[in-house]
Amino acid sequence: MRFLDVDWISGPAGTYWANDTSDLYEQLVCKLERTCGYCFPYHTKIARRWPRPFHDHCHCEGCLIVPGQRAPLAFADYRVLVDGMSAQDRAAAVGLANYALLSRGIVEWHQLVHGDGTRVLTLEEVVSRNRLSRAALLAAGIKPFLADRVLEEARRTHEELARRARSALNARLRASARALEGVPDPLRTGSTFKPKPR
Ligand SMILES: [Zn+2]
Repeated sequence: MRFLDVDWISGPAGTYWANDTSDLYEQLVCKLERTCGYCFPYHTKIARRWPRPFHDHCHCEGCLIVPGQRAPLAFADYRVLVDGMSAQDRAAAVGLANYALLSRGIVEWHQLVHGDGTRVLTLEEVVSRNRLSRAALLAAGIKPFLADRVLEEARRTHEELARRARSALNARLRASARALEGVPDPLRTGSTFKPKPR
């Protein structure tokens, strides 16, 4: 089976996805220790097959969901997840520019997470939703050329910005999938994702 035959699935925070199809699905589970910002957006999301590992030293796991079965974890509430994180993990989880806004007191933590808890917002979304000024971005240490680009992007509608956020995540997944093309899937060849003894 090729990767990403179907798009990945998200849902309201706290709800469980049930596999009412006749296909195998997979829930992505991040370790959430020294969180990697690359993988974090996909935590608890569902796909036919995740192109793991996403990068070197990626410890994300996949849990198979057979037809008729419920996903092992509810869709994560990112507001709760980030509450329990160290400063370093938070920076990785929300991105450096978002974290800079947070650490300078320009936005509060909840302003970096979508109101329904399902995901972390992009910098453009944070700027748009909070009507941040160029001065605020510069005060957070964001370089002028980046600030100008972000302000231009942030003029789009919320819906368009959300669509672009998702398509950026999809583009990343396709890159991971290309790198893994032809590699057997451990979840579907009998072995499990348990760490190897060293
Ligand atoms: Zn990972």
